[in-house]
Amino acid sequence: MSAVERKLEDIKETIASEVPNDISISDVKYEGPELVVYTRDPKKFAGDGDLIRRLASKLRKRITVRPDPDVLSRPEQAREQIRDIIPNEAGVADLDFHADTGEVVIEAEKPGMVIGRHGSTLREITQEVGWTPEVVRTPPIESSTVSNVRNFLKQERDDRRDILERVGRQIHREEMSDDEWVRITTLGCCREVGRAAFILNTPETRVLIDCGDKPGAEGEVPYLQVPEALGAGASNIDAVVLTHAHLDHSALIPLLFKYGYDGPIYCTEPTRDLMGLLTLDYLDVAAKEGRAPPYESEQVREAIKHCIPLEYGDVTDIAPDLKLTFHNAGHILGSAVSHFHVGDGLYNVAFSGDIHYDDTRLFNGAVNDFPRVETLVMESTYGGRNDFQTDQADSEETLMEVITDTIDNDGKVLIPAFAVGRSQEIMLVLEEAMRKGEIPKVPVHLDGMIWEATAIHTTYPEYLRDDLRDRIFHEDENPFLAEEFNHIDGGEEERQEVADGGPCIILSTSGMIEGGPIMSWLNHVGAEDESTLTFVGYQAQGTLGRRIQNGWDEIPMDDRGGRGGTLTLNMNVETVDGFSGHADRQGLMNFVRTMNPRPEKVLCVHGDESSVQDLSSALYHEFNMRTFAPKNLETFRFK
Ligand SMILES: [Zn+2]
Repeated sequence: MSAVERKLEDIKETIASEVPNDISISDVKYEGPELVVYTRDPKKFAGDGDLIRRLASKLRKRITVRPDPDVLSRPEQAREQIRDIIPNEAGVADLDFHADTGEVVIEAEKPGMVIGRHGSTLREITQEVGWTPEVVRTPPIESSTVSNVRNFLKQERDDRRDILERVGRQIHREEMSDDEWVRITTLGCCREVGRAAFILNTPETRVLIDCGDKPGAEGEVPYLQVPEALGAGASNIDAVVLTHAHLDHSALIPLLFKYGYDGPIYCTEPTRDLMGLLTLDYLDVAAKEGRAPPYESEQVREAIKHCIPLEYGDVTDIAPDLKLTFHNAGHILGSAVSHFHVGDGLYNVAFSGDIHYDDTRLFNGAVNDFPRVETLVMESTYGGRNDFQTDQADSEETLMEVITDTIDNDGKVLIPAFAVGRSQEIMLVLEEAMRKGEIPKVPVHLDGMIWEATAIHTTYPEYLRDDLRDRIFHEDENPFLAEEFNHIDGGEEERQEVADGGPCIILSTSGMIEGGPIMSWLNHVGAEDESTLTFVGYQAQGTLGRRIQNGWDEIPMDDRGGRGGTLTLNMNVETVDGFSGHADRQGLMNFVRTMNPRPEKVLCVHGDESSVQDLSSALYHEFNMRTFAPKNLETFRFK
């Protein structure tokens, strides 16, 4: 008997001694980080509301109870019973029965009503029908990404169960080493922005945190082939943790599967979906620009199949000596500060990923409250001593002025924006301003991936700011469904119509005017001197957006999806700062100042050379802590 089997036997005995005699336990299995208990008496099991909680705290594991397949009632019969139990207002769209695991996936418009207070309705379902219910939300705005991911995972169910069982046995393997040390190796994003990647290493376990791209970088990015990473083979890595879906953190995750990686990716559910959307688009853009993509869409599917979604606050075993907990990072949908607890109280490291310290319209501010943390690896994008952002309220006021002036002149406001994050933030600003009569009500057209990204946001309201979440739960108040928003899905014809029409606002990708439908919009309205091109996001050096900001008005249109030739830009050009998804210098300082507990050491990463050095020295002087501004390929030992 292997060590894993022996441990499972022990667990089985513990469970048997905890549950009443009339409840039989037929099997106990690992499924990823969870322990799955199969019983021939699911109804009785569910009858004791507190039993699962007692087991979970006794075994210190996440526990799922499933009915033994032998005792399942027929799906047709269960379907009717379940429909009777769930209130009509829940809007159940679909019931999907899986006899192999005894699970029924319930898709509903209002999952909260299927779950009930403290899970009471779910328990009632199991008590009545024996099946184990799982609930997913019907997106209030149809999202092809969400439905593609769900259908794909359904179709790959068998494969996925195999993966989860294998990962589960890995997580619960016996510890081999008595040594105690913790190391971090930097593989990218040090003294630079882009290609985020770190290795967290213990004698037992090796975890890769993020695996991003850096546009324009030569050769392979990040440094994956060093011995600390894939150099010693793909099986050298036990797990991958993804802080959020932006391409400078996620783009090369699928590449790992091309190199033979076959382990889990821990991320939040929205990060998984957004990663799917953004990496497929990344391949698309590479193809359009005639570059050889580093991997194929097949590897994106593999990555999605290997994702193990975690919720904020769930403490999860990801290795025998490693627990991972995600916390809201306030940066984009699903973004997570990743906290690692090493060994049994040995050491604690938090990776900030990208953070926004203060609340925004979309998200609560980043969490900085932990049970323990000795080392913080922290982003420094705006860590420079002069990197202060305009207050968002002032920025919004400026934007309103630009919009009002342009509409008064009968013009159109064209806003280049990233699909994920800034677009939704601007949508919320516009919706409120129109609702309160602060700007005239005009159509707001959304082009490119913006609509799809918005649909993904509304699928996961739990990840949005409290008051926004509440509004989305009450459907008639969902701001993203406001009547002024129009999804451009008719292509060039529809754009022409909008261009020929009256005043309006257009949000379109790409955010730095590097291809995408914004090129077509420039063709349509670029010559109108009554219209305004309004930048609301950072324009990187070398992009067309930055050149226009700097005064270029002859725009070459041949190589970026335009119609060729040169366009003379007559429209006004305005820049409104302050809508960043990143904390500014003050926000980063505040994140550490109010952090509980305050870390002993901080590694300042993910920023230009001067930003990381400024921040590192400011943290040292202000808080008297040890700070570092590492270069790529450095290794730090912490214990
Ligand atoms: Zn980011």
